[in-house]
Amino acid sequence: MDLTALKGIGDKKSKDFRRLGISSVSELYNYYPREYEDRSKLKSVVDIADNNKHYFIWRVSSRLYQKNFGKMTISYIYAYEEKSDFGKIRLIWFNDRFTPRRLVKGREYKFYTSVSRKNAFYEAQNPLFCDIDDDEIGSIVSIYPLTRGITNKQIRQFIDQALAYFDKREEILSDEILEENSLNKRYDNLKEIHFPTSIENLSEAKSEIKLVDLLKDLCFLDFLKRKTKFSQDIDLSYKLDDILSELSFTLTRSQRKVLEEILEDCSGSYTANRLLVGDVGSGKTIVAIVVMIIFVLNGYQSAMMVPTELLAIQQFEKNIELFEKFNVRAALLTGSSKDKGKIKSDLKNGEIDILIGTHALIVEDVEFTKLKFVVNDEQHRFGVSQRQMLALKGDAVNYLTMTATPIPRTLSLKISEIIDLSIINELPKGRKPIETKLLGSDKIEILYEKIHQTIREGRQIYVVTNNIDSDDKNSLENLYKIYKKRFPGFKVAILHGKMKAKDKEEILRDFNDGKIDILLATTVIEVGIDVANANTMIIYNANNFGLSTLHQLRGRVGRGEYESYCYLISDNPSPSNKLNILVESNDGFEIAKKDYENRGGGKILSYLQHGKNLSTVDFLNMSKDEIEKCFEIYESLKSNNYEGIDLSYVEEYFRENKRIILN
Ligand code: ADP
Ligand code: MG
Repeated sequence: MDLTALKGIGDKKSKDFRRLGISSVSELYNYYPREYEDRSKLKSVVDIADNNKHYFIWRVSSRLYQKNFGKMTISYIYAYEEKSDFGKIRLIWFNDRFTPRRLVKGREYKFYTSVSRKNAFYEAQNPLFCDIDDDEIGSIVSIYPLTRGITNKQIRQFIDQALAYFDKREEILSDEILEENSLNKRYDNLKEIHFPTSIENLSEAKSEIKLVDLLKDLCFLDFLKRKTKFSQDIDLSYKLDDILSELSFTLTRSQRKVLEEILEDCSGSYTANRLLVGDVGSGKTIVAIVVMIIFVLNGYQSAMMVPTELLAIQQFEKNIELFEKFNVRAALLTGSSKDKGKIKSDLKNGEIDILIGTHALIVEDVEFTKLKFVVNDEQHRFGVSQRQMLALKGDAVNYLTMTATPIPRTLSLKISEIIDLSIINELPKGRKPIETKLLGSDKIEILYEKIHQTIREGRQIYVVTNNIDSDDKNSLENLYKIYKKRFPGFKVAILHGKMKAKDKEEILRDFNDGKIDILLATTVIEVGIDVANANTMIIYNANNFGLSTLHQLRGRVGRGEYESYCYLISDNPSPSNKLNILVESNDGFEIAKKDYENRGGGKILSYLQHGKNLSTVDFLNMSKDEIEKCFEIYESLKSNNYEGIDLSYVEEYFRENKRIILN
C-alpha cells in the first residue's frame, strides 16, 4: 500500500519519506526507532538537583513577555506547579518568538526540560511542551532517524496510522508456533517498539523482533541454498604447491586454508555456494583467481563479476601475467568494451577460459560453453536476480561470493552451520597499520608539506572528496586546481564516475605504472583499487562519508612495504567526532559495528535495505541466549519442513530483486 493512502501524506511528504527509504505503509511501520527517551516519570520541580531533562506538569500563570536586545529576542512566561505548590517557574526562549505564543495563560501543559535554580525561582530554557492529553511527553518516546521536512512527532503520528493497515502476511509464524515458543505477535511487538508501554515490555518486544528477523533470515538462507544446489560430477585435480609457486608472494595461512576449503567444496557432489569474508586488503582476490585458474586447468570456464568498470579493468590487468603463465586465455568485458562481438563468439567457442567483467556479463547476451565457476566480488552491490542470472549462464555452476562486510563473531559460528562460510582472518605479513589522523581544515598547510615530501620520495597519493563540481571549496574540480598549482612539476590527475571508460582506464593504468603522483578522485576508488606504491590517502569532507566507506577507502593504502597514512579532513576535528573511531581502529568489524550504531545502517544478513533499522544495532548485539533460542526455533521449524511458517516473503524477494547480502 502506498504511503499516500495515509491521511496527511501527499506527494511532498511522500518524497520526504522516500529519502528515508520509505515508500510504502509497511516500510513505515517497519521503520524502527533509533533510540528511546524515557519521558514517563513525572517529577516535581523542587526535587530536581541535576541538569537532565525531566517531565513536569505546570500551569501557565502569566502573559507572555517578549523583549529585543539588538538581534536577540527573549521571550518568557511564568508557570505554577500545583503538585508542589511552587509558583515561580520562568520559561524562557531565546530567538524563538513563535513557539511560546502557543501557550495560553491559565492552562496546564506537559513539559520536558531541564531546570536550573535562580534566586527565587526555577528557570527552564527552551522547554519542550505539549498539551496535557498528548503523549509526546509523559511516556517512553521513540526517536527516529529523520530527514528534512519530517519531525519526530509527525513520524510517530504517521506510524500510528500505518499500524492500522498492518499486513497480516508479515506475521510469518502461526499462532501455534508463537505460543509454543512464548512469542508475541509481530503486530504487538511493533506496536510496543513504536509506542512503548514500559521499559520491560519494550525490551521484550525488541528482543522478539530481532529474534524473528534473524529467524526469517535463516529460513531465507536455507531456501536460497536449496534453490542453488545442484548435483555435479566434478573432481578437480591440481597440484596446489606448484600453482602457488608461480605467485609473487606466499599466501597467508588463512588464505591457504580458505583456498583449500573452496577447492574441496567445488569438488563435492553438489555445487558449491560459498561466502568468502575478509577485511579490506586481506587478499580475497588472489584466492578466487587461483580457483578460477584451477577450473580452467581442468577444462572448464570461469567468470568473475565485479561492481565497477574500474575494478574489472584492474583485476584483469593485475592478473594477466599470472594467466599467461598457465596459458589461460582471459578476456575483459564491460559495458564499453569495443570488441564485444568477438569476445562473445570466442566465449561460445571455448576460446576464452576466463571472463572478468561488470554486470555487462549478464545484461549482454553472453554465452559460455562450459562455465563451472563464478565469482562475485563485493557482492552486496548486486541484487539477487542479477546474481542468479550469472549463475544460470552455466549449468550447475559453483558459486563464490566475496565480501568485506564483516559478520559478528557471535553469529559467524552459528551461521556457518547454515551457509558455507570461509573467513580470512589475518592480513598478509608485513602490513603495518595505517596511521590515521583527523585534521582540521585549517591545518591543510602542514599537510601540503607532508604531501610534498611523500611524492618526492616517489610514493603516490590518493585524494578523495565527495562531489565533482559543486560550488563546495572541496569539490573535485576545485581541489584539482589547487593541487596543480601547489605541486608544479608533479603529475596530478583526476578520476570520477562520469568520465569515459577509456579515459578512466588510461588514468588508472598510469597511476598503476607510477606515472601519476597524485590522483584526485570520488569514491569510484572505494572498492578494489590496488596500487602498492600508493601510501597516502587524503579524504576531504570526511564527515560526509560513512565509517565503513572510509575504512574501505583507507584500505586502498597500506598495501605495500611502505609506512602508510590516512588523513581525514573535517571542519570539526573535535574529540567527539565519530571519525575518531577510525583513528583508533583498523578493524573492519569494529568499525562496521560502530557505523551501524551511528547511522542505523543496513542489516548484515538481511535483504532489508540500507538505513532502516534499529534492530541492526541490536542485531549485531544479540545476546548469546537470543541467538541460541533463534537457532533452536529454526532447527525445529526446519525439521518439521517449515510447517507453521509462511515463506511467501522468500518468494517475493526473487520477484522483486531486493538486495540480499549472503546466500
Ligand atoms: P581484498 O581482500 O580487499 O580484496 P586484495 O585481494 O585486493 O584484498 O589484496 C590486497 C593486496 O594484497 C593485493 O595487492 C594483493 O596482491 C596483495 N596480497 C594478497 N595476498 C597476499 C599475500 N599473502 N602476501 C602479500 N601480498 C598479498
Ligand atoms: Mg577486493
